[in-house]
Formats: sequence, structure tokens, C-alpha cells
Amino acid sequence: MDPASRPATTVLVVEDEPLINQAVGDRLRAEGHGVVSAYDGPGAVAAFDEHQPDLVVLDVMLPGFDGLEVCRRIQQRRPVPVLMLTARDDEADVLVGLGVGADDYLTKPFRMRELVARVAALLRRVERAQQLVREAAAKPGGVVALGGLRLDLGARRTWLLDAEVHLTPTEFDLLCALASAPGQVLTRERLLAEVWGWDGGAGATRTVDSHVKALRSKIGADRVRTVHGVGYALEAV
Ligand code: CA
Repeated sequence: MDPASRPATTVLVVEDEPLINQAVGDRLRAEGHGVVSAYDGPGAVAAFDEHQPDLVVLDVMLPGFDGLEVCRRIQQRRPVPVLMLTARDDEADVLVGLGVGADDYLTKPFRMRELVARVAALLRRVERAQQLVREAAAKPGGVVALGGLRLDLGARRTWLLDAEVHLTPTEFDLLCALASAPGQVLTRERLLAEVWGWDGGAGATRTVDSHVKALRSKIGADRVRTVHGVGYALEAV
């Protein structure tokens, strides 16, 4: 292929329902992305290795092995943004709790416009994260310390009282957003915009709640304060 006409990004679409797979692929191609399709778990991992996609759209229920296992296997190879397609709204809670490393969730049935927006937001977020890393790496000591928590922005590593805490990329970004304004309440909508890069629609704030829950289980429940009906604040304890 002529390098000038090669799409800037490649998206791997993993979905066993042929009509949905094709519709998602067609729409992403129309948006200018390169698209690779897979229809089961083993096929997804093989396609990931062969095509090195920039992003993966991943259905949960798949033949062979499921989307969770696909997510685990590909994240072990290389960190890549994953948009998971879930059958039910509350399934996202379970998946976040399992910490498989998906960055965002979309509940079926979804509108193509919503999928395109989420894909664009995830790609922007990766670009922003890479830029932050470059900036942090350019100046010495890109480290935030806050009441026993220490965040190395360049290395994207976190310590709690000198013990390293292993956060998923999304949990790390969420913690960074909260740490940028310690003690202040950040609304769910603002966190959605800062961490996920998209405006909340119906049910979108559940994504924030699920990830806060997962973050609390790792850094201590009392460190993230809930302001009911408003949002969250990182306690500078
Ligand atoms: Ca399926």
C-alpha cells in the first residue's frame, strides 16, 4: 500500500455476530481507520499479533475464549486501549472489578455514532498520555506526592506508603485527575471529560463510579471521598 494512503490507525474489531462486526468495521473505515476483523477469542489474539492494532473493540461473549481472556492476553503483550462491548449495563461494573485492563465500556445495543465518539476519545487519550509522559520525562522529578501516595507521571507508577500499587492505565489517569486538585470535588462529568475524553450521556457516569470503586480497593476506600450526587474528591490525608 502507498504509505501516503495508509490509515493513521488500525482498529481490531472482535465480535462473533457477523452483522455487528461488519457494521462496526464499515463505520470505522468510513472514519478513516484501518480495520481488522476477528470473530472468536483465539482469532482475536492471532490478529492482534499479526496486525499490531492501535485500539481494540472487543465483545465480551465470544467463542473459543471470552473477551476478558482476550483482553488479558493482549495486554500482557503490549498496552493497547480496549473498548469493551457489554451485553448489560451492570456487566461493566463486574469487568472493572476484575481489572482486565479495558479502558471503556459500551452497552449493547449502541449507536454507531456513540461507538465512533468513544473510539476517537480513547485514541486522543492515548496521545495525551504519551504527551504527558514526554513532558514529564523532559523535566526531572515529574512526581506528585500526596499524603502517603506518590505518583511518578513519567513512569506511570504509583506507591502507597512505599509499597508499589499496580493500577490499570485508566485507574492511573483517574488518580492523576483527582490528584491535580486534591481536596476539591470533581464532578463525574468533569472526570469523564478529563479521563475518558467524552461528554456524559445517560448511564455514562457509571463508568466513573466503577473505576473509582476499583481505585479505592487499591489505594484505600477513605482516600477518595464521595459527594453524593456530585462527584469525588481525593483526600489529602
Ligand atoms: Ca458475542
